[in-house]
Amino acid sequence: MAKVAFLGLGVMGYPMARHLASKGHEVTVYNRTAAKAEKWVSENGGRSAATPREAARGQEIVFACVGNDDDLRQVTLGADGAFQGMGKGTIFVDHTTASAEVARELYAAAKDKGFAFIDAPVSGGQAGAENGVLTVMCGGDADVYAKAEPVIMSFARASRLLGAAGSGQLTKMINQICIAGLVQGLAEGVHFGKKAGLDIEAVLDVISKGAAGSWQMENRGKTMNQGKFDFGFAVDWMRKDLSIVLGEARKNGASLPVTALVDQFYADVQKMGGRRWDTSSLIARLDK
Ligand code: NAP
Repeated sequence: MAKVAFLGLGVMGYPMARHLASKGHEVTVYNRTAAKAEKWVSENGGRSAATPREAARGQEIVFACVGNDDDLRQVTLGADGAFQGMGKGTIFVDHTTASAEVARELYAAAKDKGFAFIDAPVSGGQAGAENGVLTVMCGGDADVYAKAEPVIMSFARASRLLGAAGSGQLTKMINQICIAGLVQGLAEGVHFGKKAGLDIEAVLDVISKGAAGSWQMENRGKTMNQGKFDFGFAVDWMRKDLSIVLGEARKNGASLPVTALVDQFYADVQKMGGRRWDTSSLIARLDK
């Protein structure tokens, strides 16, 4: 069992930290809004710390899951950041969806100070975190990853090292590219079916068993048809992720015309009041 800290008890971090505690790891939590950390400790045991620096002190592995690049820099490099408290030979595992650039920057900063950094964004959403079945995409050094993997598996169904620092974030970008175009295609299919006067649930039931089937169709097709958009990953988060994706594509020269277009469609959804709607809400701008 490991001595670990978890920084950021949001929708994802709160249950991820709970799975670490339930597997027997000794968990110290930090959350910017301290009341959430106190609630976590009252439910799960362990202890809370007032700053990331204090939380990181004496731990073997420090996990984080905060919002974006700037938040991540704050909880690591800031005056009270975790990097000021970490000991030599320890590991920082970051589950934030962030840029590959910040992952490389923090990998180098950690190496300078004698500890290690793994970028490890996740897929599987709130339900995946609650049920401890996330998919984790990692970048960093193989020997370090081998030590962290058994602890990561406390809240994951699958975890894999994809290459050097930043590779986890690049893989998560591919995940989001694949989702963006697919959700728009599904939205257009459902929208078309409604215009054609078909029974959408019957249509989805049959076509999901063939070549058009997908996780999105299985899990979001029916609710999309019902105009229900409160199933987790929010449009604001998706736009943050797509902005990271499009920024990386400008650097590596990848051509992402559909992803860029879908990003603009999500901007339309935001203007319709859908910032907190889930990503299947692309259909709302077609149906309006
Ligand atoms: P969330 O519920 O908004 O939680 C964000 C957490 O980060 C909160 O604990 C927040 O503290 C903390 N935080 C934010 N900025 C901070 C700062 N500058 N300093 C210290 N703490 C800070 O977000 P979430 O849904 O858990 O998502 C977290 C990350 O996972 C994001 O990068 C997101 O893209 C990614 N992700 C989310 C999902 C999903 O379905 N939600 C799926 C895959 C990946 P406070 O409590 O004080 O606000």
